[in-house]
Amino acid sequence: MKSKRLLWALVLLAVTFALWFLGKPKEAELAKEAHALTNEILAYGPRPPGSEALDKVRAHLRKELEAVGWAVEFQEFERDTVIGKVRFANLRARLRQGDADPWKRRIDGLLCAHVDSKLYKDKVFLGADDAASACAAVVVIGKHLSEKNPGQAARLELVLFDGEEAFAEDMTLLDGLYGSRHYANGWRGRDDKPNFAILLDMIGHENLRIRIPSDSPEKLAELMFEIAKKQGVASKFGTASGPILDDHVPLNLVGIPTLDIIGDFARSNWWHTPGDNATIISTESLSISMGVTVAMLDELLAE
Ligand SMILES: [Zn+2]
Repeated sequence: MKSKRLLWALVLLAVTFALWFLGKPKEAELAKEAHALTNEILAYGPRPPGSEALDKVRAHLRKELEAVGWAVEFQEFERDTVIGKVRFANLRARLRQGDADPWKRRIDGLLCAHVDSKLYKDKVFLGADDAASACAAVVVIGKHLSEKNPGQAARLELVLFDGEEAFAEDMTLLDGLYGSRHYANGWRGRDDKPNFAILLDMIGHENLRIRIPSDSPEKLAELMFEIAKKQGVASKFGTASGPILDDHVPLNLVGIPTLDIIGDFARSNWWHTPGDNATIISTESLSISMGVTVAMLDELLAE
Protein backbone atom coordinates (compact mmCIF):
# COMPACT_ATOMS: atom_id res chain seq x y z
CA MET A 1 0.00 0.00 0.00
CA LYS A 2 2.73 2.37 1.04
CA SER A 3 4.76 1.69 -2.09
CA LYS A 4 1.67 2.30 -4.26
CA ARG A 5 1.21 5.71 -2.67
CA LEU A 6 4.88 6.48 -3.28
CA LEU A 7 4.49 5.45 -6.89
CA TRP A 8 1.53 7.78 -7.32
CA ALA A 9 3.49 10.61 -5.69
CA LEU A 10 6.35 10.01 -8.12
CA VAL A 11 4.00 9.95 -11.11
CA LEU A 12 2.39 13.20 -9.94
CA LEU A 13 5.82 14.78 -9.52
CA ALA A 14 6.88 13.66 -13.00
CA VAL A 15 3.67 15.02 -14.58
CA THR A 16 4.05 18.33 -12.73
CA PHE A 17 7.65 18.64 -13.90
CA ALA A 18 6.72 17.78 -17.50
CA LEU A 19 3.94 20.40 -17.51
CA TRP A 20 6.27 23.01 -16.02
CA PHE A 21 8.96 22.17 -18.57
CA LEU A 22 6.59 22.21 -21.55
CA GLY A 23 4.96 25.46 -20.45
CA LYS A 24 8.22 27.31 -19.94
CA PRO A 25 9.18 29.62 -22.82
CA LYS A 26 12.26 28.13 -24.34
CA GLU A 27 14.31 31.34 -24.40
CA ALA A 28 17.46 29.58 -25.54
CA GLU A 29 15.67 28.06 -28.51
CA LEU A 30 13.99 31.34 -29.42
CA ALA A 31 17.34 33.12 -29.22
CA LYS A 32 18.97 30.55 -31.48
CA GLU A 33 16.20 31.01 -34.03
CA ALA A 34 16.50 34.81 -33.83
CA HIS A 35 20.28 34.60 -34.24
CA ALA A 36 19.86 32.51 -37.40
CA LEU A 37 17.22 34.91 -38.76
CA THR A 38 19.54 37.87 -38.05
CA ASN A 39 22.16 36.24 -40.27
CA GLU A 40 19.56 35.64 -42.98
CA ILE A 41 18.68 39.37 -42.92
CA LEU A 42 22.37 40.34 -43.08
CA ALA A 43 22.91 38.08 -46.10
CA TYR A 44 20.96 40.60 -48.22
CA GLY A 45 23.66 43.24 -47.52
CA PRO A 46 23.09 46.87 -46.50
CA ARG A 47 19.33 47.66 -46.54
CA PRO A 48 18.81 51.43 -46.55
CA PRO A 49 15.30 52.81 -47.30
CA GLY A 50 14.24 52.42 -50.94
CA SER A 51 16.83 49.71 -51.66
CA GLU A 52 16.18 46.39 -53.36
CA ALA A 53 17.86 44.64 -50.41
CA LEU A 54 15.30 46.12 -48.02
CA ASP A 55 12.44 44.97 -50.28
CA LYS A 56 13.90 41.46 -50.17
CA VAL A 57 14.29 41.53 -46.38
CA ARG A 58 10.66 42.63 -45.93
CA ALA A 59 9.47 39.90 -48.34
CA HIS A 60 11.54 37.32 -46.42
CA LEU A 61 10.09 38.35 -43.04
CA ARG A 62 6.57 38.49 -44.50
CA LYS A 63 6.92 34.87 -45.62
CA GLU A 64 8.14 33.79 -42.16
CA LEU A 65 5.09 35.35 -40.49
CA GLU A 66 2.48 34.33 -43.05
CA ALA A 67 3.59 30.71 -42.73
CA VAL A 68 2.29 30.63 -39.15
CA GLY A 69 -0.96 32.53 -39.62
CA TRP A 70 -0.06 36.22 -39.46
CA ALA A 71 -1.66 38.66 -41.91
CA VAL A 72 1.04 41.01 -43.19
CA GLU A 73 0.54 44.45 -44.69
CA PHE A 74 3.10 46.91 -46.08
CA GLN A 75 2.24 50.50 -45.18
CA GLU A 76 3.84 52.36 -48.09
CA PHE A 77 4.53 56.09 -48.37
CA GLU A 78 6.98 58.61 -49.85
CA ARG A 79 8.81 61.53 -48.30
CA ASP A 80 11.04 64.34 -49.51
CA THR A 81 14.30 63.94 -47.61
CA VAL A 82 17.74 65.55 -47.64
CA ILE A 83 18.72 63.04 -50.36
CA GLY A 84 15.55 63.59 -52.44
CA LYS A 85 12.31 61.63 -52.69
CA VAL A 86 12.48 58.27 -50.91
CA ARG A 87 9.92 55.47 -50.82
CA PHE A 88 9.34 53.74 -47.48
CA ALA A 89 7.26 50.79 -46.23
CA ASN A 90 6.45 49.76 -42.66
CA LEU A 91 5.66 46.09 -42.17
CA ARG A 92 2.58 45.46 -39.98
CA ALA A 93 1.37 42.03 -38.90
CA ARG A 94 -1.73 40.80 -37.07
CA LEU A 95 -2.76 37.24 -36.36
CA ARG A 96 -5.57 35.85 -38.51
CA GLN A 97 -8.52 34.44 -36.54
CA GLY A 98 -11.04 32.65 -38.74
CA ASP A 99 -12.58 34.81 -41.45
CA ALA A 100 -12.70 38.01 -39.37
CA ASP A 101 -10.73 41.01 -40.67
CA PRO A 102 -7.66 41.19 -38.38
CA TRP A 103 -7.26 44.90 -39.14
CA LYS A 104 -10.66 45.70 -37.63
CA ARG A 105 -9.89 43.93 -34.33
CA ARG A 106 -8.97 45.97 -31.28
CA ILE A 107 -5.44 45.23 -30.18
CA ASP A 108 -3.81 45.82 -26.79
CA GLY A 109 -0.13 46.10 -27.59
CA LEU A 110 2.59 46.65 -30.17
CA LEU A 111 5.94 44.92 -30.51
CA CYS A 112 8.27 46.89 -32.80
CA ALA A 113 11.76 47.36 -34.21
CA HIS A 114 13.30 49.16 -37.19
CA VAL A 115 14.10 47.22 -40.33
CA ASP A 116 16.27 49.71 -42.30
CA SER A 117 20.04 50.03 -41.97
CA LYS A 118 21.69 53.45 -41.99
CA LEU A 119 22.78 54.62 -45.44
CA TYR A 120 26.53 55.05 -45.86
CA LYS A 121 28.03 55.57 -49.30
CA ASP A 122 31.66 55.22 -48.23
CA LYS A 123 31.50 52.09 -46.05
CA VAL A 124 29.68 48.77 -45.79
CA PHE A 125 27.26 49.17 -42.91
CA LEU A 126 25.10 46.12 -42.12
CA GLY A 127 23.45 47.20 -38.87
CA ALA A 128 23.53 43.71 -37.36
CA ASP A 129 22.44 44.94 -33.94
CA ASP A 130 21.04 48.24 -35.29
CA ALA A 131 18.59 46.66 -35.78
CA ALA A 132 18.53 43.36 -37.73
CA SER A 133 18.71 41.38 -34.47
CA ALA A 134 15.72 43.28 -33.02
CA CYS A 135 13.66 42.63 -36.18
CA ALA A 136 14.53 38.96 -35.98
CA ALA A 137 13.52 38.94 -32.29
CA VAL A 138 10.13 40.55 -33.09
CA VAL A 139 9.41 38.01 -35.85
CA VAL A 140 10.55 35.01 -33.79
CA ILE A 141 8.54 36.12 -30.72
CA GLY A 142 5.52 36.62 -33.03
CA LYS A 143 5.94 33.12 -34.45
CA HIS A 144 6.38 31.64 -30.96
CA LEU A 145 3.23 33.33 -29.61
CA SER A 146 1.07 32.36 -32.58
CA GLU A 147 1.99 28.74 -32.01
CA LYS A 148 2.10 28.58 -28.19
CA ASN A 149 -0.30 31.33 -27.15
CA PRO A 150 -2.56 32.46 -30.01
CA GLY A 151 -4.85 34.29 -27.56
CA GLN A 152 -1.99 36.66 -26.68
CA ALA A 153 -0.74 36.88 -30.26
CA ALA A 154 -4.22 37.98 -31.41
CA ARG A 155 -4.06 40.99 -29.08
CA LEU A 156 -0.70 42.11 -30.40
CA GLU A 157 0.43 43.89 -33.57
CA LEU A 158 3.99 43.49 -34.82
CA VAL A 159 5.48 46.53 -36.57
CA LEU A 160 8.81 46.84 -38.39
CA PHE A 161 9.46 50.51 -39.06
CA ASP A 162 11.24 51.72 -42.15
CA GLY A 163 13.45 54.83 -42.16
CA GLU A 164 14.39 55.01 -38.49
CA GLU A 165 17.87 56.15 -39.44
CA ALA A 166 18.60 59.71 -40.59
CA PHE A 167 20.09 60.30 -44.05
CA ALA A 168 22.37 63.01 -42.64
CA GLU A 169 24.95 61.82 -40.09
CA ASP A 170 22.92 62.94 -37.06
CA MET A 171 19.21 62.45 -36.50
CA THR A 172 16.90 65.44 -36.10
CA LEU A 173 13.15 65.64 -35.59
CA LEU A 174 12.77 66.03 -39.37
CA ASP A 175 15.41 63.58 -40.60
CA GLY A 176 14.95 60.07 -39.20
CA LEU A 177 11.99 58.19 -37.61
CA TYR A 178 10.16 58.40 -40.98
CA GLY A 179 8.32 55.11 -40.53
CA SER A 180 7.34 55.50 -36.88
CA ARG A 181 6.15 59.10 -37.42
CA HIS A 182 3.94 57.93 -40.30
CA TYR A 183 2.68 54.91 -38.36
CA ALA A 184 1.99 56.86 -35.13
CA ASN A 185 -0.02 59.44 -37.10
CA GLY A 186 -2.47 56.68 -37.98
CA TRP A 187 -3.37 56.35 -34.28
CA ARG A 188 -3.61 60.06 -33.54
CA GLY A 189 -6.93 61.05 -31.97
CA ARG A 190 -8.36 57.53 -31.98
CA ASP A 191 -9.91 56.02 -28.86
CA ASP A 192 -9.01 52.41 -29.72
CA LYS A 193 -5.27 52.95 -29.35
CA PRO A 194 -3.20 50.06 -27.98
CA ASN A 195 -2.41 50.32 -24.25
CA PHE A 196 1.31 49.84 -24.61
CA ALA A 197 4.18 49.27 -27.01
CA ILE A 198 7.60 47.65 -26.64
CA LEU A 199 10.32 48.74 -29.04
CA LEU A 200 13.48 46.65 -29.38
CA ASP A 201 16.73 48.19 -30.67
CA MET A 202 20.29 46.86 -30.30
CA ILE A 203 19.36 43.95 -28.04
CA GLY A 204 21.69 41.23 -29.29
CA HIS A 205 25.28 42.48 -28.89
CA GLU A 206 27.84 40.58 -26.85
CA ASN A 207 28.37 41.99 -23.33
CA LEU A 208 24.73 43.10 -23.40
CA ARG A 209 24.11 46.47 -21.76
CA ILE A 210 20.50 47.68 -22.03
CA ARG A 211 19.96 51.33 -21.12
CA ILE A 212 16.35 52.50 -21.45
CA PRO A 213 15.62 56.24 -21.99
CA SER A 214 15.47 58.25 -18.75
CA ASP A 215 11.93 59.43 -19.61
CA SER A 216 10.48 55.93 -20.17
CA PRO A 217 6.85 55.26 -19.16
CA GLU A 218 7.16 54.38 -15.47
CA LYS A 219 4.95 51.31 -15.30
CA LEU A 220 6.60 49.63 -18.27
CA ALA A 221 10.08 50.42 -16.96
CA GLU A 222 9.20 49.05 -13.52
CA LEU A 223 7.82 45.86 -15.05
CA MET A 224 10.98 45.37 -17.12
CA PHE A 225 13.28 45.79 -14.10
CA GLU A 226 11.10 43.50 -11.97
CA ILE A 227 11.18 40.74 -14.58
CA ALA A 228 14.91 41.16 -15.21
CA LYS A 229 15.46 40.71 -11.47
CA LYS A 230 13.24 37.62 -11.36
CA GLN A 231 15.13 36.11 -14.29
CA GLY A 232 18.51 36.83 -12.65
CA VAL A 233 19.66 39.25 -15.37
CA ALA A 234 19.16 42.59 -13.57
CA SER A 235 22.83 43.56 -14.08
CA LYS A 236 22.24 43.81 -17.84
CA PHE A 237 19.46 46.41 -17.48
CA GLY A 238 19.76 50.06 -16.51
CA THR A 239 18.65 53.59 -17.38
CA ALA A 240 20.45 56.01 -19.70
CA SER A 241 21.48 59.43 -18.40
CA GLY A 242 18.92 61.18 -20.62
CA PRO A 243 16.11 60.78 -23.16
CA ILE A 244 16.87 59.01 -26.45
CA LEU A 245 15.56 59.88 -29.92
CA ASP A 246 14.20 56.62 -31.34
CA ASP A 247 10.97 55.17 -32.77
CA HIS A 248 9.27 55.21 -29.34
CA VAL A 249 9.10 59.03 -29.40
CA PRO A 250 6.34 59.42 -32.07
CA LEU A 251 4.34 56.61 -30.38
CA ASN A 252 4.59 58.24 -26.95
CA LEU A 253 3.59 61.58 -28.51
CA VAL A 254 0.28 60.16 -29.80
CA GLY A 255 -0.48 58.61 -26.42
CA ILE A 256 0.75 55.02 -26.75
CA PRO A 257 3.09 54.45 -23.75
CA THR A 258 6.16 52.90 -25.34
CA LEU A 259 9.25 51.41 -23.73
CA ASP A 260 12.44 51.47 -25.82
CA ILE A 261 14.51 48.45 -24.77
CA ILE A 262 17.77 49.68 -26.28
CA GLY A 263 21.44 48.83 -25.95
CA ASP A 264 23.96 51.40 -24.74
CA PHE A 265 25.03 52.49 -28.23
CA ALA A 266 26.80 55.60 -26.91
CA ARG A 267 29.27 53.45 -24.96
CA SER A 268 29.86 50.91 -27.71
CA ASN A 269 32.74 50.92 -30.20
CA TRP A 270 30.65 49.48 -33.06
CA TRP A 271 27.63 51.81 -33.28
CA HIS A 272 27.25 53.22 -36.83
CA THR A 273 30.53 51.62 -37.92
CA PRO A 274 31.30 48.55 -40.09
CA GLY A 275 31.97 46.83 -36.72
CA ASP A 276 28.19 46.42 -36.32
CA ASN A 277 28.27 43.09 -38.16
CA ALA A 278 27.44 39.43 -37.46
CA THR A 279 30.49 38.97 -35.21
CA ILE A 280 29.04 41.07 -32.36
CA ILE A 281 25.70 39.19 -32.17
CA SER A 282 25.41 36.78 -29.25
CA THR A 283 22.76 34.09 -28.76
CA GLU A 284 23.12 34.51 -25.00
CA SER A 285 22.36 38.25 -25.20
CA LEU A 286 19.34 37.57 -27.42
CA SER A 287 18.16 34.99 -24.92
CA ILE A 288 18.32 37.57 -22.11
CA SER A 289 16.54 40.39 -23.94
CA MET A 290 13.98 38.10 -25.59
CA GLY A 291 13.33 36.30 -22.30
CA VAL A 292 12.49 39.59 -20.57
CA THR A 293 10.36 40.75 -23.53
CA VAL A 294 8.33 37.51 -23.67
CA ALA A 295 7.70 37.66 -19.91
CA MET A 296 6.63 41.32 -20.18
CA LEU A 297 4.17 40.44 -22.95
CA ASP A 298 2.87 37.58 -20.86
CA GLU A 299 2.14 40.02 -18.05
CA LEU A 300 0.80 42.86 -20.22
CA LEU A 301 -1.43 40.62 -22.33
CA ALA A 302 -2.76 38.55 -19.40
CA GLU A 303 -6.55 38.29 -19.59
ZN1 LIG B 1 21.30 53.41 -35.96
